[in-house]
Amino acid sequence: MTRCPRIAVIGSANTDLTVFSDAFPRPGETIFGNSFDLGFGGKGANQAVAARRCGADVTMVAKVGNDLFGEATVRNFASMGIDTTHVGVVEGTSSGVAPIFVDSTGQNRIIVVPGANETLQPEDVDRAADALRSADTIILQFEIPLETVYYAVRFAQNHSIRSIVNPAPARPADLAELTAASFFVLNETEAEAISGLPAGTAEEAQACAVALKQKGFGGVIVTLGARGCLYAGPDGVQRIPPFVVKPKDTTGAGDAFIGSFAVFLAEGLSAREALSRANLYAALSTTRVGTQKSFLGRAEFDAEWNAARNL
Ligand code: ADP
Repeated sequence: MTRCPRIAVIGSANTDLTVFSDAFPRPGETIFGNSFDLGFGGKGANQAVAARRCGADVTMVAKVGNDLFGEATVRNFASMGIDTTHVGVVEGTSSGVAPIFVDSTGQNRIIVVPGANETLQPEDVDRAADALRSADTIILQFEIPLETVYYAVRFAQNHSIRSIVNPAPARPADLAELTAASFFVLNETEAEAISGLPAGTAEEAQACAVALKQKGFGGVIVTLGARGCLYAGPDGVQRIPPFVVKPKDTTGAGDAFIGSFAVFLAEGLSAREALSRANLYAALSTTRVGTQKSFLGRAEFDAEWNAARNL
């Protein structure tokens, strides 16, 4: 491959505001927490960062509010070399934020306020058309209006651009509007919610992947956490084995998987080869704390891949 893969992400950007506290206030009460962490998140943003860390040229199509979090989000993208030309700033609504409350046992309570993410419209896809047409792959998730996701899938199809749809978080959707996607990538929970079938065991997950594939997707990938992933493609179903690691924090593993998969595919690898590498990239992200912070750079990943292959 002579040029860098080009990936476009049309999706969400949020700021995670994490409070660590032993107790939680009762109505009307004010208490002191232990510590606070500010992190950049949103599935779209995370997948864009993973693709960038894997060495792609990345364009982000997103909306933030005209506030400190919006500014910081754009700065975070820019600091990584992600093209922010199509990150719009909207007046009158906040940036997407996720206040997260973590108790002493590590249990999370999360409130996501989508804010500006909800204002990303099909017209924004048209506005970014020139950048999108030069992409190898367009990646989409479900944290923006579904109308925009449907529109972008059609845009990709009309311009013969590979598209990857990650229906996360799962919500009722018109699958017929999505089946033009090249790849539909979902975890077990999303597979159950979207197919209406159980996906708890390996056999169930496989039946789920096949049922979704039969709806017309180019390929369906079900991620199985520590068990790797399943690929239902033109040649039937394949299990792509996992890499064994000692996980510290699995937040964002799915985003690491999708962002890296897009890059490996754009580099010309077969889906199977790309999925195997994505399994390792995502597994390694679980060995580090944080989401975007846990994504490996390309040189580091290549060294790990070579080492894993020689085992
Ligand atoms: P999500 O983060 O969306 O819930 P999964 O938990 O299925 O998605 O994880 C996505 C991918 O990350 C898996 O397919 C696998 O490649 C990798 N992964 C996640 N957890 C582990 C783990 N404990 N050990 C090895 N790989 C993991």
